[in-house]
Amino acid sequence: MSDDVLSSGVDFHCHLDLYPDFEAAIAKAEAARIYTLTVTTTPKAWPRNHELTHGTRYVRAALGLHPQLVAERADELALWEHHLPEARYVGEVGLDAGPRFYKSLDAQKQIFSTVLERCAEAGGKVLTVHSVRSVSMVLDMIERHLPQDRGIVVLHWFTGTKVEAQRAAALGCYFSINAEMMRSDRGRALVAELPINRLLTETDGPFTQIDGRPTEPTDTRKAIDAIACVRNLAADAIGKAVRANLQTLLR
Ligand code: MN
Repeated sequence: MSDDVLSSGVDFHCHLDLYPDFEAAIAKAEAARIYTLTVTTTPKAWPRNHELTHGTRYVRAALGLHPQLVAERADELALWEHHLPEARYVGEVGLDAGPRFYKSLDAQKQIFSTVLERCAEAGGKVLTVHSVRSVSMVLDMIERHLPQDRGIVVLHWFTGTKVEAQRAAALGCYFSINAEMMRSDRGRALVAELPINRLLTETDGPFTQIDGRPTEPTDTRKAIDAIACVRNLAADAIGKAVRANLQTLLR
């Protein structure tokens, strides 16, 4: 990512391939100069994502195997491993111990530990990680399998405690914040205390909504404004910090 990183927005976790028109969604993010990480939920989606983001300036694709799909798609781990050399960004990966997905938690752990090990072996990967109701397990696994000098983890839609956030920061993790997280008192209190040099923004579109439509990368300003509000800083200062963090992360 280039020098003008300091003058553009950042959506470090969204799913552009789940919008009705994937190519138009990429074109819109490019035109708006939003540094966008479009994640995949299955490695079967990787070839098309990779192809469409090969020549783009602002949009990058991530190779994923979503924990919520592990119950049906655990056998796609080999395909994920096959494509890993083509990917700098990895996600969506992680754990989901919520009631709907708890039954596959053992399989999720097996897959996530392999994902972390392969990333550690390869080096230089940037991961966007899901950790619903499983933050301490996710951090244990990162600590065990992915040394800080072998990869960078961005915790997407983090819902852990303040103590867990401190532990994550000590492990070198970043946090990508969306506007939806900022609707609860708990979310606002957490984001108010995260280290400012580890903050990124995201939309998680189309899984979040704004004015009754799916959120898009061009909506990341909402997250900036919400972060600025809880931290008593100007939106421009937060925007600058987020873009500087992205630059640091990618160095
Ligand atoms: Mn997501």
